Amino acid sequence: MADGQKHEQQSSDRARYEFKRRLEELRNIRGSATQLISLYIPPGRQIHEVVAQLRSEYSQAQNIKSKSTMKNVTGALESAMQTLKQFKDPGDHGIVIFVGHRAIGGEKTKMTTHVIIPPTPITLMKYHCDSSFFLEPLEAMLKEHNNYGLIVLDRQEATIGFLRGQAIQVVTNMQSMVPNKHSKGGQSARRFERITEDIADKWFYKIGEVATEVFKPELEKGELKGIIVGGPGPTKEYWLENQYMDHELHKRIIGQPVDTGYTDEYGLRDLVTNAGPLLRDFGLMEEKDLINRFMREVGKQDGGLAAYGEAQVRNALQIGAVDTLILSEKLRKARLTMKCESCGWTKEETTDLDPLEFEKRYPPCPSCSQNAVAIDQEIDIVEELSQIAESMASKVKIISGNSDEGELFWKAFGGIAAILRFKTG
Ligand SMILES: [Zn+2]
Repeated sequence: MADGQKHEQQSSDRARYEFKRRLEELRNIRGSATQLISLYIPPGRQIHEVVAQLRSEYSQAQNIKSKSTMKNVTGALESAMQTLKQFKDPGDHGIVIFVGHRAIGGEKTKMTTHVIIPPTPITLMKYHCDSSFFLEPLEAMLKEHNNYGLIVLDRQEATIGFLRGQAIQVVTNMQSMVPNKHSKGGQSARRFERITEDIADKWFYKIGEVATEVFKPELEKGELKGIIVGGPGPTKEYWLENQYMDHELHKRIIGQPVDTGYTDEYGLRDLVTNAGPLLRDFGLMEEKDLINRFMREVGKQDGGLAAYGEAQVRNALQIGAVDTLILSEKLRKARLTMKCESCGWTKEETTDLDPLEFEKRYPPCPSCSQNAVAIDQEIDIVEELSQIAESMASKVKIISGNSDEGELFWKAFGGIAAILRFKTG
């Protein structure tokens, strides 16, 4: 892969992660009443038309019975119109605005405004007012797009499933009634063979039928990237040549059939592993390879070129010892800078608490005993460590949480690790 491409992939990895985190944040916001506004503006819309619609919503909102809700809704609408003034047009992907008074405990509310430029174009124009934000169209964008159909088969057994993102999903496993071939000669043997081939043909036909049933709806939704076929013997080639599946699906078969050791769930795993060259572009193999490389280093007697845990990795990053920083997308931690307004004392800390909860631990200041300690800066730890890595020209890889390797990485290493350029001590 060229360096430019690699960089692009790295930043799209991070962009996707950031988008996901923002949606998570919005998902947690609640209004004390129907007062949170979601506004979807697709490409091609005139901003002034949208503003006119908001003005009409504004005059309707003045009829809301509850005084506080009325004030909150009209306030949100004003803010939405103000925000829209920054845009000449909705751009190629459209604009989504989330605005409103969020409940922050007790009777209190706080005005919040979020503008999101979606990663892929939105198609709907929508004004939505509710006690939570309307996020479904954006959440749908996060669904993994690499969705492959998987089939492993021989004369005895077949398994059909999907590779969705990094996860293998078994849909069905079938056993055949095809007798094993035998080698005796003679008249009856030939008749037996004809009968056997007849049963085998029905079996292949059935695999094709079931595969069509499973894959066709995904193809019609435009959500099937391709189909990979495998199995232990020559049956898979025979099955493909004779086109037992729907012909539209046949056009989606990727590359040559793949050899596997099994035809059950393990066969599907084999298939994905052995189809490596076919899938490499989509990041799966890269992720597996990286975790395996890291595990090999960790397994070395002297600890190899590996670091894990936040403290060790942070130290290695700061001295420029990290070749590749590996982070799990499951990480939910913030790096906070606490500061005392009174004496200037500061301290950086990492927490998995809500920062506002964390802040309560602080007063008084450990240095001057004044009650003036507050959060001065707050940054997501994935973001913070990635920034240090980039300043040291270290690579960054964010690992998904739903592959076997990603799961292992999260459970055994807390989701923070690095492959090193040199040993640190
Ligand atoms: Zn102080």
